[in-house]
Amino acid sequence: MPLQVLDHPLAGHLLTGLRDKNTPPDRFRQLSRVLTSLLVMESTREIETRSAQVETPIEETTGPVLAQSLAVVPILRAGLGMLEPAVQLFPEVAVGYIGLERHEDTAIARSYYSKLPNLKAKYTLCLDPMLATGGSAAQAISLIKLHEPARVVMVCVVAAPEGVETLERAHPGIHIVAAGLDRALNERKYIVPGLGDFGDRLYGTF
Ligand code: URA
Repeated sequence: MPLQVLDHPLAGHLLTGLRDKNTPPDRFRQLSRVLTSLLVMESTREIETRSAQVETPIEETTGPVLAQSLAVVPILRAGLGMLEPAVQLFPEVAVGYIGLERHEDTAIARSYYSKLPNLKAKYTLCLDPMLATGGSAAQAISLIKLHEPARVVMVCVVAAPEGVETLERAHPGIHIVAAGLDRALNERKYIVPGLGDFGDRLYGTF
C-alpha cells in the first residue's frame, strides 16, 4: 500500500475535530493548520540532509542541515488551507499552484490554472486535503512530474480507498501521507464518513 496513515494520538484528535460538523470555520482552520504541520513533518522525513559544523557557546560540534530544496504545490482551492503551515516549517520553500475543479455531477476534474516554479531535483509535496476519486491528484501529479522533481509526495488529510487506488494506478510507487483512511465514497463522490467539503468548511462558504 503506497499510503501511510499518520499514527499519532494528536493527529487523530485533530482529525476528529475537523470531522465534527459543529466545528466553526475559525476552529476548523486552526485544527487544519496544526494537523498539516504534522503531515508535512512526516512527508518530508526522507529529505536529504548534510552534516554542518557549528560552534555552540560551549564547543564546536556537527549537526544535520537540510541539503535539498523543497517545493509545495497546493491544489486550489482546498489545498490553499494547507500552504501556510508548510511555509512556516520551510520558509525557503518554492510554491506552485494547480487549479483543478471537479464537476458537481460527474466529479471529473478540470484544470483551469497551473503556475509551477522550477521543480527540477526538488523534493515536492502536492497538497490536497481530500483524496476522494483521486482524479485531481493524479492530474496534478502528472503536471508536477513534467518538471522532473526528485520525489513527489501526496499529502492529504483524509483519503478514500478509491482515491488511493486511482493514484497508485496512475503513478505506481507514489507515496501518500494522510491523517485518516476512510471507508468509501458516497454517490456524490464525497468521502464517508469524511468531513464534508473541506473548502466550504475552511472558508465558511455553505
Ligand atoms: N472534496 C471534499 O472537500 N470533500 C470530500 O469528501 C471529497 C472531495
